[in-house]
Amino acid sequence: MRIPMIAANWKMNTTVSEAKKLVTEIHQELSDIKNIDKVICPPFISLATVYELTKEGSIKLGAQNVYFEEKGAYTGEISPLMLTDFCKYVIIGHSERRQYFNETREIINKKIRTSLSFKLMPILCVGESLEENEAGNTEKIVAGQLKSALAGIDYPNGLILAYEPIWAIGTGKSATGEQANKTIGFLRRNINELYNETAAQNVRILYGGSVTDTNTTEFISQPEIDGALVGGASLKAKQFISIVKQAREIKNQTSS
Ligand code: PEP
Repeated sequence: MRIPMIAANWKMNTTVSEAKKLVTEIHQELSDIKNIDKVICPPFISLATVYELTKEGSIKLGAQNVYFEEKGAYTGEISPLMLTDFCKYVIIGHSERRQYFNETREIINKKIRTSLSFKLMPILCVGESLEENEAGNTEKIVAGQLKSALAGIDYPNGLILAYEPIWAIGTGKSATGEQANKTIGFLRRNINELYNETAAQNVRILYGGSVTDTNTTEFISQPEIDGALVGGASLKAKQFISIVKQAREIKNQTSS
């Protein structure tokens, strides 16, 4: 059985004091909730504060980005070594980084390799653009992104994937549960081809793209979808708490 996961990507939002307030509300409601992994990915500058406020409970932290060297003259960058004090996870290959910061497939592969060497578990994002989707190229694109990101890597136990169609991120226009389930099933079959059946059955694959507390059921009730990566809705404590609680209920029902 794969444990469901809901991950919050706060992106470039929240000052340190706002982060403190938001995580305090979330921690109060969710830190004792079992049978679901809860991950919060705040901005780097709030990681230490958020860590102090959550370390006694079951919420784990992730970073939104990482550099692929351990240390050195890379002004402004943050290494996996620096993150391991606070984080268990790191988001890699988010479409905003590919699009605005010119992250190539080669860079993403390097980031995954270095993170794994520090036992920082990647949440690897893949997803197609609107044009690629309309041209019927979704599977070709996500398969290519997956293969290049994992090139030369022995299957990392615990790797998380997130299918995030670019046209659904922050747009309020989500995929349907069925569409997302189909592509996520396809990604799972790709993991089988790249590694083996056990790896495919173990890998958790999240859906991301305009998930809110009103459409959580549609995604989480799909058999291939193991959870969600949530952007905008994770900045509202009540919504995020509701998404986690709904997801836990749905997955608990389907597994019993
Ligand atoms: C994201 O950035 O990973 C994301 C899914 O954002 P949103 O939920 O706002 O679409």
